[in-house]
Formats: sequence, C-alpha cells, structure tokens
Amino acid sequence: MTGHFTFITLVRGKMRYGILEWHHHAHFDHCYPIRGIFPNSTGYFGPGTKEFCSPGHLEDPKSQWDGRFFDPIHSTERWETLRGPWVPFGPFDKAMDFFGDGSFWVIQAPGHMPGNLCACAHLGSGDWVLLGSDCCHSRSLFDGTEEIAEFPLPDGSRGCLQMDLPAAGETIARLRTLERDFGVHIALAHDVSWILDGGNKVLTSLIEPELLRIAQVKCPQNAIL
Ligand SMILES: [Zn+2]
Ligand SMILES: [Zn+2]
Repeated sequence: MTGHFTFITLVRGKMRYGILEWHHHAHFDHCYPIRGIFPNSTGYFGPGTKEFCSPGHLEDPKSQWDGRFFDPIHSTERWETLRGPWVPFGPFDKAMDFFGDGSFWVIQAPGHMPGNLCACAHLGSGDWVLLGSDCCHSRSLFDGTEEIAEFPLPDGSRGCLQMDLPAAGETIARLRTLERDFGVHIALAHDVSWILDGGNKVLTSLIEPELLRIAQVKCPQNAIL
C-alpha cells in the first residue's frame, strides 16, 4: 500500500480491488519492470521523469536509472508520462483524477526527485489515505522532531535523500495540511511507525491482520525500510 513495490493494491469505491502499475518515482525501490508478469500493462511516471532519467544504465553503466524504462532504443517496458489534466487538490496545485470518478488522485509532489508523485485514495468507508512515497522518509521527519539530513559523499559533495530540499519542505508542509485540515491518513513509503503503533485503524484496516501481526514482530523499532 505504501508504494514500496510497483504494484499497488488499492481500494476503490466500495472496496473494489484493482492493481495499478503506478510509479511514485524512478528509484529502484519504487520502480521495477513487470512486462513479464503483466504483458498488457502500461506504467505511468510523473512529468519530468523521462527527461531526467534517460537514457539510463543500458547506455550509461554509471547511471542509476533503469534503461529498461528510459533507454530510447533498448527499453523493454511500455510506459507513459501522466498528462493530467492537472487541477488543485487540497493544498496541492497539480493533481490528476486518475480514474475520473474522484476515487484516486495522483499528485505532483516536488522535492525528492524530478517527477516525484504521491497519491490520495478515497476508501469505501469515506476515509482518505495518502500514499506518501518518498516525499518524507519517516514520521519523525514528518512531525518535525527530526530534520532531513545532509551528509558527505566520498567525492566531497553533499548528499541528501531529497534532491531539492526546499521543495521537499514545501511538499511536506502540504502533506501536514492534508492531515491536519482535511483529516487525511498519511502512509509514507519507508515509515513503519503506524504499523508498529497499530493505532490508526484506517491504515491498519488495509492490511491483512496476519500480515500486520508479522510486520509488527519483524520490523525493528524506528526502522526505515
Ligand atoms: Zn526514492
Ligand atoms: Zn524509496
């Protein structure tokens, strides 16, 4: 549900079940070729991904971007850039009503990397759940009790999980508004705090009880997975 994998199981309308190949962004932990499993599938990336990630590792072995998506000649995956129309959604400027029925909104969320997306699903219960991808990597960062780190890299440059830190800060502020003013339930892709805590019944209701129990046992405290 939190977008760790390419496949996202989502509830739509009255708990209808669907599988959607929707990529938060192009990092390897959120984006994996699936043509071999779902040959008729089409993947979707946010605007700006293609320009930033092409041509990928097949042409440039040093590239971290997957040439199976981004190589102009040797790509194996069928995918498209989401074209909108982009309209406001709560505090965000650019969101797309993906199914055209208001049940699933794909949102442009600048900061983590070009083309980064998050999404908001309207459950059959009436609750809203925000799939927060890597807009923010932990609840403590979201709550502001910790700060996003910048760290030295071997080549002397500075690294950060948010490529555009000011933009990421704005995106996180908008997510806080969604939670505080709109009552949206936030699930960040690498955050396990709500799984360990178990107190958010809207989020935990989306996980099979046995899977939730195993995750609570297996996930170390404060792990960012
Ligand atoms: Zn990422
Ligand atoms: Zn990630």
